Amino acid sequence: MSPTSFMSDRPNLAASSPLPGPEVLRGAASQYTPGTAPLGLRELRAEEEQQPRQQRRQQCQPQTEAQKEHQQDSRQTAKWQGQDQHGQDQFPVEKRTLSPEQTREIVRLFQCRRCSIPYRDAVTLPCGRSICKTCLPEARDRTSITYLALPNRLQAFLCPFEECSKEHVLNDCGVDVLLNKTARIMEDEIERAKADALDLRLSTHIAIKDPWEVAGVASLKEDDNSPRLMNGGRLVATWTLAAEGGLLFEAEVTYRELPSSSTQGELMGFETKALGRVQEAMRSEMDCQVCYALFYEPLTTGCGHTFCRPCLHRILDHSRYCPICRRKLAINPLLNRSSCPANESITKIMETFWKDELVAREETAAAELAARHQNSDLPLFVCTLAFPMMPTFLHIFEPRYRLMIRRALEGDRTFGMVLPKRPRHSGDTYFHELGTLLRIVNAQFYPDGRSLIETVGLSRFRVLQHGQFDGYTVGKMERIDDVSLEEEESMEAAEVGHDAGMQATEDNLNGDHDIRTQDTDNNRHGPHVHGNSSRPGSSRRSMRQSRETTTPGTVADLDTMTTQSLMRFATGFVARMREQSVPWLTERMLGIYGECPDDPAVFPWWFASTLPVKDLEKYRLLGTSSVRDRLKICGSWIIEMETVRW
Ligand SMILES: [Zn+2]
Ligand SMILES: [Zn+2]
Ligand SMILES: [Zn+2]
Ligand SMILES: [Zn+2]
Repeated sequence: MSPTSFMSDRPNLAASSPLPGPEVLRGAASQYTPGTAPLGLRELRAEEEQQPRQQRRQQCQPQTEAQKEHQQDSRQTAKWQGQDQHGQDQFPVEKRTLSPEQTREIVRLFQCRRCSIPYRDAVTLPCGRSICKTCLPEARDRTSITYLALPNRLQAFLCPFEECSKEHVLNDCGVDVLLNKTARIMEDEIERAKADALDLRLSTHIAIKDPWEVAGVASLKEDDNSPRLMNGGRLVATWTLAAEGGLLFEAEVTYRELPSSSTQGELMGFETKALGRVQEAMRSEMDCQVCYALFYEPLTTGCGHTFCRPCLHRILDHSRYCPICRRKLAINPLLNRSSCPANESITKIMETFWKDELVAREETAAAELAARHQNSDLPLFVCTLAFPMMPTFLHIFEPRYRLMIRRALEGDRTFGMVLPKRPRHSGDTYFHELGTLLRIVNAQFYPDGRSLIETVGLSRFRVLQHGQFDGYTVGKMERIDDVSLEEEESMEAAEVGHDAGMQATEDNLNGDHDIRTQDTDNNRHGPHVHGNSSRPGSSRRSMRQSRETTTPGTVADLDTMTTQSLMRFATGFVARMREQSVPWLTERMLGIYGECPDDPAVFPWWFASTLPVKDLEKYRLLGTSSVRDRLKICGSWIIEMETVRW
């Protein structure tokens, strides 16, 4: 016996609902118009509260409250208590104080690698490197990009760091809120220490080491590195020298304090205190706004906000908006280390200032990851096809699935949905390996234990292994993500590229013409006639653009279309179908899945949810890795349907 789903097959939506009126479903669905309700920090945290403690620990570093509990029941106690062997101190890790010997290293953390001045409006690039805003190279317009062709995304510059030398989009490089805050804390402390130094009449001889000498070669010059007498101790002297532009990023220095009335010990005490104050003031800024713990692999978004890598992953599970500033996040949720490197400056600051705590944080994260891999079995509902960002409604009546859903509700409210498959040979699986992680947003229970649940698709996965648990299927899975937006853009640029695009376009126009003639002969309402008549403002567009394919005649034509043209082709089709009042696009369907989305990232999921094509065709979408690929698949359905229809 297989469980029923309200939408296991689209046209059966109403037919298979035994109890609830369609109103129930429609009302519930309308709360979930995709992409309109970004989760804020409060919601993310509230959700965190709903999760069992065990799970919370797996996902994020425990915070102070959780740490206390941790200390009572966990073998990791020692790690968290640092050097305190007596268990009296609740403070996680013994603080290691900074030494005046590290002064040069500390000042360098805040120096721009390009202009060597301490950061002013530092910007963190997608490659994780930071630079002053004024040091950004001049941006230029990119060509062959139409998807998300926002004014700012068309402007890009070549990364000034040799190790990267990639093209970065100007809009992806926001002013780094956290890095600037830390630089300001340094400046405030410098001002304070400067005033204190005046009282103590403290000054320091600072000399820049000869770079030849640093490299182990005998010095050639002598006059350049004569020591300068600066007000203040080491920290003030070094920072001031850097701020004046007299200290290159790579340069090393030597010091000689001029003791006034104070002894050498007092001087060092003065320095150590100043560093301690900086360390303390900065520490509170280094907690992630999602998990409240010290940043783990800090990633800085285009809007300039920083989150732990795992926390950003969770944010992107729910929403595509930054939970702090609510700006749309341009990153696609790939977030792997090679395409989204951690913020280098913040990482170095943490390594210098809170080494022990950082090591403990990393060890705990690694232990959590290992534990999750050990018991990461996701419950799998073998029932129907579901898509990210789209609602799926389920009627739960089989006992094993009642148990599964109850457990999901007690836990993080998620489970995996996979499409059943008839096994071809013994040992073959009874479901397709790609599926969608669903989150329960609404559940209604009936006295007899049956339930109606409304879910929304979060992300896609591939089942790596599976087994049985209390009667239902469980599996280990890996997440399937899109390539980064950068890669998406270069994919489009490569396919629609100038020369290749030209050639293909000419071929298309010819092919297009032939087909159009045929269509016109066969039926005046042929799709290509419609398509061409709605070709937008061709007279105002450039030569190249006016020649590009906007109405594909064959599936092969889709490859050379811009992503925007693909989107326009698909939404044009939807608009025509609505005019013709096709039976699969009724008000009822729109009530459930929402109006046709104008966001290309959402459109294919919506289209697949409404279009009457075979499940196995729609299933192809789950394995894609770019918006462009999904739009091409949608395009191929349209071509197929129109060929059959006319
Ligand atoms: Zn770069
Ligand atoms: Zn700079
Ligand atoms: Zn975090
Ligand atoms: Zn933000």
